Amino acid sequence: MPPVQRRAIISGPIMVKELADQLGVKSNELIKRLIGLGVMATVNHDLDRETAVIVATEYGAEVEERASVEEREEILIQGAEDSPESLQSRPPVVTVMGHVDHGKTSLLDRIRSSRVTQSEAGGITQHIGASVISWHDHEIVFLDTPGHEAFTAMRARGAQVTDLAVLVVAADDGVMPQTIEAINHAKAAGVPMVVAVNKIDVEGAQPDRVKTELTQHGVVSDDWGGDTMVVPVSARTGEGLDQLLEAIVLQAQLLELQANPDRPAQGVIIEAKLDKGRGPVATVLVKRGTLKVGDVFLAGTVFGRVRALLTDQGERIAEAGPSIPVEVLGFNQLPDAGDDFVILTDERQAKDIADARAERTRRAADEGTRGVSLDEFYQRLKDEEVRDLNLVIKADVHGSSEALSQSLSKLSHSEARVRVLHTGVGSITETDVMLAQASGAIVIGFGVGLESKARQIAEREHVDVRTYRVIYEIIEDVERALKGMLSPKFQEIILGRAEVREIFRVPRIGAVGGCYVVDGKVLRTAQVRLLRDGAVIHEGPIASLKRFKDDVREVASGFECGIGLERFNDIKVGDVMEVFTEEEVKAS
Ligand code: GDP
Ligand code: MG
Repeated sequence: MPPVQRRAIISGPIMVKELADQLGVKSNELIKRLIGLGVMATVNHDLDRETAVIVATEYGAEVEERASVEEREEILIQGAEDSPESLQSRPPVVTVMGHVDHGKTSLLDRIRSSRVTQSEAGGITQHIGASVISWHDHEIVFLDTPGHEAFTAMRARGAQVTDLAVLVVAADDGVMPQTIEAINHAKAAGVPMVVAVNKIDVEGAQPDRVKTELTQHGVVSDDWGGDTMVVPVSARTGEGLDQLLEAIVLQAQLLELQANPDRPAQGVIIEAKLDKGRGPVATVLVKRGTLKVGDVFLAGTVFGRVRALLTDQGERIAEAGPSIPVEVLGFNQLPDAGDDFVILTDERQAKDIADARAERTRRAADEGTRGVSLDEFYQRLKDEEVRDLNLVIKADVHGSSEALSQSLSKLSHSEARVRVLHTGVGSITETDVMLAQASGAIVIGFGVGLESKARQIAEREHVDVRTYRVIYEIIEDVERALKGMLSPKFQEIILGRAEVREIFRVPRIGAVGGCYVVDGKVLRTAQVRLLRDGAVIHEGPIASLKRFKDDVREVASGFECGIGLERFNDIKVGDVMEVFTEEEVKAS
C-alpha cells in the first residue's frame, strides 16, 4: 500500500479542526502532536501560520503556502507601482483653515463663484464636497468644508487628501487660538500653508501686525526671509484674490504633485449622503488613475458598479482623472467619509474583499484598535515601532502650556524624542483628540477637563488622555515612559457630567448645586472636578447627593439632583461637575 500523500494549504491562521481535516488526521491526534511541540491548543483554536506549517511538515505533508486574504487584497488594491514616466502633474487639493469669523466661508464662496470651471451645460454649482476652480489654465481643487477640524477628522480616518492649506487670518483681529490650532494641525500633517490675510478692506486692518504675530508661531512670510507666502486679500471686495490663487499655484508647483492617470482609479470618499431621488451618493476624490462609468468599485465594505459620474457643476461626465472630485452614483449602501475607494476588475473580487474587511472590522471591534499609550511607549520604542513620543498639551493658562512644552521637550534623549505637536489653553476638545489619533499622540491636560464628546472619541479610538493637577507629575510620568519605568497605580474613570443650573444655600452645609446630569451618572462615593469655562476650579469628594429631599447613592443622566462638595462652597451657575472615580490599574 503506498503511503498517504498528505497535503495542506495554509494562507494564514488556521483552526486546529480545519488543519486536521486537511491532513486527514483526527483532531485529538493533532492536538497531541501540538502538545509535543509545546503548543497548547483546543479544537477551535486558531494556529498561527508558522506553527501550522511546522506541524503539517511533521506529518510529512506537502505544504502549500498561499498569500493570506489581506495580502491578496493588498496586491489587488495597490496594483503595480507607477513608473516615473507614467506620472503626470495633477491639480492641488486645498483646505481653507482659520479662526471662526475670519472669513473662510466668504473667501471660498468668492473664489468659487468667480472662478468655477464654466461648463457648457451651464449647470448650477453644487456642494458635493469639493469644487474645481480654474485660474489661468491652472486647476485648483478646494474642499468645501473649511477648518482644521474637518481636515484632521479625515486624517484620523487614515485619509490624507489635502495637499496644501490656506490659512485665513483677519487683518482686524490677528492671530487667534484657532489660527494657532490650524497652524499646528497643518504642521503635524506636514502640509504646507499659504496665508491669506483677509478683510484688508476693513478700517483699522493691520496686515503687518498679522505677519509679526505669525512669526511668533514659526510662520515667517517669504518677504521677511521665511518660506510662507502671505497674501493680503478681501473676500468682500475681491481684492488680492488673483494674487492668492497665484500663490497657491506657485506653492503647488513646488510640491511637484503627480499621479498616473493611466490605471484603474483609487481615491477617497470625501462626502456621502442619502439623496431623496437618487439614493446613496458619494463624492470621490480621485487620487490616482482614471475613474470611468461602468467600473467595479469597492469603498470600505461597500461595493458596486459606477452608474454615473457628475461634476460639481452637476454635469454628467464619462471619466474623472487625478485630483478631480466627482459624485458617484451606483452605491447601494452609504460608505463612510474617509473610506478608500478603489476600482477592481470584477465584482466577485470586490465582494470577497468587502466580506473579509467586514469580518476584520468585527474582530477589531472586539479587540479594539491600538493607539499609542504612555504605558506601552517604551515597549514600542524597543520594538522600533516608534521613535517620537508625540504630545498634544492643553493647559489652564498660556504660561503653563509653554512651560510644560519646554520642560517636556527637554526630556528627549538619543533614542526617543518628545515632539509637542500642539499646545493650547482650555479644556481638551474633540479636535485635540482627533489630532492625537491622526498623529499617534498622547493628550496631556494640565488643570483642564475633558469635554464629553472628546472623552467618547478617546474611549472609542483608544487615545491616551491624561489629566494632571501638578506639573511635576506630568514631567515625572513622561520621563518614566521614556525610560520604560512607568508604573501607573491609579487610573481615573470618568463617570459622568452634571451642569450646575441653580445654587441653594443650606444652613450649616453651605452651597449645594442644583444640577442636571447631562451624561453618564453621578455616584455619591465619587469625586468631582469642578470646571468653569474649561478650567479646573476645584477637585474633591462629593459631600451630599440628593434627589428632592432624599439622599441617594446614584443619579442617572437626564435627571436633576442636588450636589454638595466637601470643603468647597464657591459653586456657581454654569459650572460643570465632572464626576470620576479612581481605579487601581493591574500591572500587566
Ligand atoms: P468663517 O467663520 O471663517 O467662515 O467666516 P465667514 O466667512 O462666515 O465671515 C465672517 C464675517 O466676516 C461675515 O459677516 C463676513 O461677511 C465677514 N467678512 C468675511 N470676509 C470679509 C472681508 O474681506 N471684509 C469684510 N469687511 N468682511 C468680511
Ligand atoms: Mg464658515
